[in-house]
Amino acid sequence: MSNRIQVYEAPEIAVTFDPGKCIHSGVCIRGLPQVFDVQRKRWVRPELAAAADVAEQVSRCPSGALQYEMKNAGGANCPLA
Ligand code: SF4
Repeated sequence: MSNRIQVYEAPEIAVTFDPGKCIHSGVCIRGLPQVFDVQRKRWVRPELAAAADVAEQVSRCPSGALQYEMKNAGGANCPLA
């Protein structure tokens, strides 16, 4: 696998994965198996769970290989926009 950072987009959240940092703890796969499934070619599918749940799981990654960015911050519902 190359060490390029992978980006997985869903409407409300973007998840990035840095293969060079992953320590293969399996925390992500055990915690949210519908989103993180290495049997699939596109192994991260953030659209298959609530964005908040994906974000919570990503934050448990012990190596920092997984990161996320919420979208729509400051979007149509933001009173300051
Ligand atoms: S939780 Fe992080 S370190 Fe563990 S397998 Fe998933 S991406 Fe790799």
